[in-house]
Amino acid sequence: MWRRAPATTVDGMTDQLHSDTIAVSAGRPPRTPDGPLNAPIVPASALHADGASGYARDGSPAWAPLEEALGALERGRATCFSSGMGAATAALRHLPRGTRIVAPIGVYRGVRQTLDHLEERGMVGVRWVDGTDTDAVLDACRDADVLWLESPANPRIGVADLPALCGHARERGMYCVVDNTMATPLAQNPLAYGADVAMHSATKWIGGHTDLLLGALIAADDELSHRFVHAREVAGATPGVLEAFLALRGLRSLPVRFERAQASAGELARRLAAHPDVTLVRYPGLPESPDHERAAAFMRGFGAVLAFEVTGGADRAERISHETEVFTHATSFGGVNSSLERRARWAAEQGVPETLMRVSVGLEHVEDLWRDLERALARSAERVGAAVA
Ligand SMILES: *Cc1c(COP(=O)(O)O)cnc(C)c1O
Repeated sequence: MWRRAPATTVDGMTDQLHSDTIAVSAGRPPRTPDGPLNAPIVPASALHADGASGYARDGSPAWAPLEEALGALERGRATCFSSGMGAATAALRHLPRGTRIVAPIGVYRGVRQTLDHLEERGMVGVRWVDGTDTDAVLDACRDADVLWLESPANPRIGVADLPALCGHARERGMYCVVDNTMATPLAQNPLAYGADVAMHSATKWIGGHTDLLLGALIAADDELSHRFVHAREVAGATPGVLEAFLALRGLRSLPVRFERAQASAGELARRLAAHPDVTLVRYPGLPESPDHERAAAFMRGFGAVLAFEVTGGADRAERISHETEVFTHATSFGGVNSSLERRARWAAEQGVPETLMRVSVGLEHVEDLWRDLERALARSAERVGAAVA
């Protein structure tokens, strides 16, 4: 089994460093004269014998630096996978038959489909709850074994009370996994609240350039991380060599990208909330958001994904997605480019308001982003008006 280096490369200082510094400096090769500053791209399936791995599916120097950096940021042991779903599947793989799972209603659709599939085959029982309703989650946990959380979560960008819920799961000896994709390790660290595992789709903010798929599980203890390495080995959900390189390269600039995107998201949320055609803005950074106080109490920032609803029905919302010129009409989030979509266009997402637009804010100038949204709102309204007349 591949053994990762201890989660520190910065002369044992990792515990005292800020996340911004860790993102830049963790996972670098040793400082040797004329040695490279960056971890190399390592295309290799077979490794020299007599080591810990021997075969790249069991563990590879191609992604070890990325695991070191992610582990240092989340303060745990990271195992990387071919995608976020590869990671999520590995997090569920070791559960015994009959496991009772509590999961939030709006959970990422791939996770929902996986849990439905396990339940249909009688492997697990799933209780779906509103993840932002702390009492409901605690109540559902009474006779459950696993607590799966995602926060902030799609499509309503709801914030779960992670310190309370992870702490409760820990007290009760439940296995607790938090999908930390939307917050990134910069805004919150689930392991610090008592979760066993922080999960990431590095496809989003960590990679940050909409050019790769990659996932990670960061475990609080070695035994769990060995299980994840084993799950990756047998299921074969190994990261691509180039993807691992690009994800680490993306991680280097995550703190500045995320800071800029969050600042713009907050500004756009405020302006959208004041727009006469916008009926609701969902962003925990807005003081009027029902999750604002909770998020402010434990998160470092509010993320850069928001959602809003408009007057004029699904047709108009759909038109908005086609009228923007700076925002790209596309799914996913976390790229340098801003994007938006009408979330209900995905059939698998039930209960999503028809006009809910999910917006991922990127790095373009905030005034250009606002003008683009304002113009798309205006043009879509004209068209609706014309169609009615
Ligand atoms: C995208 C996403 C996933 C799945 O990740 P992939 O890399 O697409 O497999 C899981 N959870 C959340 C919250 C996501 O946004």
